[in-house]
Amino acid sequence: MEQKPDFETGVNYWANTEASVNGVLGGYGEGTPVPRLDATSSRLLILSLMPYLSTIIPPHSSSTTPPRPKRAFRALDCGAGIGRVTSTVLLPLFDSVDLVEPVPSFVKQAKKDAVAGKQGWKNLHPRKDEDGEELQVKSARIWRAGLQHFNPLSPAVPVPTSSTSNPSVELFASLGNSDFKFPNPESELDPTEEGYDLIMIQWCIGHLSDEELADFLRRSQKALRRNKDGKVEGHIIVKENTCKDEEQDGRLFDDEDSSITRSDAAFKAVFKHAGLRLLKREVQQGFPKELFPVVAYALQ
Ligand code: SAH
Repeated sequence: MEQKPDFETGVNYWANTEASVNGVLGGYGEGTPVPRLDATSSRLLILSLMPYLSTIIPPHSSSTTPPRPKRAFRALDCGAGIGRVTSTVLLPLFDSVDLVEPVPSFVKQAKKDAVAGKQGWKNLHPRKDEDGEELQVKSARIWRAGLQHFNPLSPAVPVPTSSTSNPSVELFASLGNSDFKFPNPESELDPTEEGYDLIMIQWCIGHLSDEELADFLRRSQKALRRNKDGKVEGHIIVKENTCKDEEQDGRLFDDEDSSITRSDAAFKAVFKHAGLRLLKREVQQGFPKELFPVVAYALQ
């Protein structure tokens, strides 16, 4: 019989894991090259899709690098854990970030780190650049929810599911610039004015079944930023472990955390089913050999 991830079993597994980078990365924390390599590659991938987000003028820059449009850029960090991706990848580039994470100890740790302002969380606090100029204070919200129940279009309204009796979404914390105008989380956002520029999904999506994943991707696609003609401008990045296509149906089930590792072909089939277009596929380089190959897919 096909095994499906169970929401509660997954959450219980992570609730018993240390709320640290080492914990969320299964022992490959700051004592290993993994977090740095991962964050660097993700930032470069994002900048290849949205070059105007660059905070520095690269030495090899051509005059064709477009200037950053004068508006707020928004990102969503899915299955955020303690906010490692938000801190090291998203907050340095985007003006506002929403985090979604179901485990109480993880959202608590994320809030604590955000308040302390370490690493990229410093963007949520007033500070000056080298020339003494005040830098813009960014903003973040932490939502406590599973992705099965989260709708990026209207975050405060839980998605009903057949598998969980009582889906809940809680706004756990609002941090940083309190003047930032988030779209009303109770009603559907307007993708032209308020859509997400990036929806980042990393190392968590094995907790969703194929149907749940396709549904979440469809909801996400609708919440991406569009231009006035309705053309999608935002991106979804899925960055996940991959198993071999030769595994059973391209899927490996892990009983311990009740998650599936999908193969490249299995991911592509779900993306197609969700109606997404694959723009770019990148294999993460430099990780320890014993890990599953990690692949980043950029989608619209
Ligand atoms: N993306 C983070 C965390 C990875 S650890 C990072 O790269 O650092 C995996 C995360 O998935 C954990 O925080 C776990 O609580 C979360 N998770 C488990 N089930 C989930 C679900 N149904 N929806 C969203 N996130 C989930």
